[in-house]
Amino acid sequence: MRYTAIVLAAGKGKRMNSRVSKQFLELNGKPVLYYALAAFEKSAVNDIILVTQENDIEYCRKEIVEKYGFRKISRITAGGKERYDSVWKGLQAAGQSDYILIHDGARAFIDQETIARCMQDVVKSRACVAAVPVKDTIKAADSNLLGVETPDRSRLWTIQTPQVFEQPLIYEAYRKMTLEQESGTAPMVTDDTMVAEHYMGIHSHMVMGSYYNIKVTTPEDLILGQAILDHAAPDHTVPNKK
Ligand code: C5P
Repeated sequence: MRYTAIVLAAGKGKRMNSRVSKQFLELNGKPVLYYALAAFEKSAVNDIILVTQENDIEYCRKEIVEKYGFRKISRITAGGKERYDSVWKGLQAAGQSDYILIHDGARAFIDQETIARCMQDVVKSRACVAAVPVKDTIKAADSNLLGVETPDRSRLWTIQTPQVFEQPLIYEAYRKMTLEQESGTAPMVTDDTMVAEHYMGIHSHMVMGSYYNIKVTTPEDLILGQAILDHAAPDHTVPNKK
């Protein structure tokens, strides 16, 4: 079985209030993006497609791939305007593979156990996603900010990445979405499981993730990220340098 990870790092990082893209801000002297790449390098995936902004490709090649000696990164490719555009570019860049793991490069603290659980689960489920049970009560509010619904908390999960699919299934889902976008009828999607649901009718299986698997998106996340690295660091070893 062949597994390909698509690591997304083509976001602009607007919420970080920084001129540097969020995935290039540093934690312990290494870019945030390094950590997610190191986790997949160490995992059992066969190869990694890195998706960045066009003008960051050279930086990533020199300052991340070559500097830290990553060996599984088979392609670095330019992303698109929205996350789903970047996923589609990544899917097109991926060669023949049985399963695709789509991961937010900003989720620096993904651990080996979660990756392995997802890789195992997808073989049976066809579509699965790392997720954790919500801890808070969640309300849906109307336009006057009145809480109108309180979904049963015991059924709610916070969706993370990786989101993992049979390759033909997710490729076809995104291909259909791209066609609909051209005709202006595509719905708003915020993650890959929604694309699989909407276009292929496939529901994703929840795989236990980790509360440390946060997305480093805003300045306060850097503080949390540093604490995770200092006190709860998952197995982020540096791959062999060349
Ligand atoms: O913006 P958001 O927090 O949803 O981004 C999630 C991940 O998707 C980040 O790792 C970001 O770099 C990536 N992304 C991308 N291309 C975009 C927007 C976001 O690769 N156009």
